[in-house]
Amino acid sequence: MASDRRDQAVHAALAQGLLTEEQPVAALLDTGGIRASATALKEAFAAVTDAPVLHAFAVKAAPLVPVLALLHSEGLGAEVASPGELALARAAGVPAARTVLDSPAKSAGELHEALALGVAVNADNLQELARLDALAPGRAGSPESAAPAVGLRVNPQLGGGSIGALSTATATSKFGVGLRDAGARALIVRAVLDRPWLTRLHIHTGSQGIPLPLMARGVRAVWELAEEINAVAGRRRIDTVDIGGGLPVNFASDEHTPSFSAYARLLREEAPGLFDGGYGLVTEFGRALLAKHGTILSRVEYAKTAGGRPIAVTHAGVQVAARTVYDPESWPLRIRAYDAEGLPKSGPAVAQDIAGPACFAGDLLAEARPLPLLEPGDVIAVLDTGAYYFSSPYGYNSLPRPAVHGFTAAAAADGGGGAVRFTTVRRAQRLDEIVAESGGAYAAALLP
Ligand SMILES: *Cc1c(COP(=O)(O)O)cnc(C)c1O
Repeated sequence: MASDRRDQAVHAALAQGLLTEEQPVAALLDTGGIRASATALKEAFAAVTDAPVLHAFAVKAAPLVPVLALLHSEGLGAEVASPGELALARAAGVPAARTVLDSPAKSAGELHEALALGVAVNADNLQELARLDALAPGRAGSPESAAPAVGLRVNPQLGGGSIGALSTATATSKFGVGLRDAGARALIVRAVLDRPWLTRLHIHTGSQGIPLPLMARGVRAVWELAEEINAVAGRRRIDTVDIGGGLPVNFASDEHTPSFSAYARLLREEAPGLFDGGYGLVTEFGRALLAKHGTILSRVEYAKTAGGRPIAVTHAGVQVAARTVYDPESWPLRIRAYDAEGLPKSGPAVAQDIAGPACFAGDLLAEARPLPLLEPGDVIAVLDTGAYYFSSPYGYNSLPRPAVHGFTAAAAADGGGGAVRFTTVRRAQRLDEIVAESGGAYAAALLP
């Protein structure tokens, strides 16, 4: 998010009472920034192909119905990977025809529901294709019917990136059919030739930490496979390639690098035939669309020292930043210091720990981070948290999910000068809801 808009929003959030004693942590989403990223994505691919492109937002990156509805209004669809995510996309009004279901563990019931709704499905493996045969036997031979598209996920087995847990194209990854495994290529070709309704190939090389050239080589490998299948078939049996998401996000500054357009240009260089207008495309970006447009705000409750180290104890910790807390090397986040009025704090930088509220020692958002010395009542902003952070809360210590507020900031040129309007995206979880989710209705269940 643009830093001036962010400062404006933090100040307005404090002035408008969004951080309170009862709700000392809250999240902000920059509506204009999300729109701008959606536009950048659409323009990037429109510049490299004339073919239809469905940009399906990866719902897991920000499973919030108003976000999905906003992206839908910008012309994006939804990539879902569970019944819950599908329900969110439907609640947001995303049509089935603009929804894609990917998941490594779809049950027969899920597959049946998706196909009945008209949601495109990417099968993860050959067993799943066999299951689809059984579910939709009548579709064989009628590829022109209005039935939803079906694809097969392929793992190019090109290796991983800097974050092992998010590298999906390793030799032994759980995702897709390993393209380099003995005999696999021939099996895939056969599987497509045998099924007229199987018209797509799908790949997703990983999320964050995958070098762009590796992502592009993965897309190239799938394009080459599509060409091989089409050559054997004598016609364009594979007509659409779903290239997945995974564009990494720069967590070190406000710059949006690498850009969607740089990636689209690289893809066209690496797999030119995929962009000659003959292939339809699906993309599934998540993090790159949302990350930079979210901010977590928390009041500093206490400021103490231990062993000479200043520690700011805040209300933002593992419940809103699980990845950073458990794997700080892979997921460092920028933190900005504000005073109680939400104005940027100045002063000499002092190395201090930024601690969360959870009851384990590792619940730190940052260690020895140089920041103006924080005091009780100050506010911290945890930047670039619009994807996979507050929207993927973690239930540790029964800490409530914080409220999420969307905002629009009028540019100074519009005479705005600080006019920030907030709207509720998700209200904070209430204590009675936590009790209900924790078996509150069954209090006596274990008593004799
Ligand atoms: C997670 C995921 C995405 C989105 O990845 P980002 O890194 O957020 O862009 C897309 N497709 C699939 C299949 C995924 O699992």
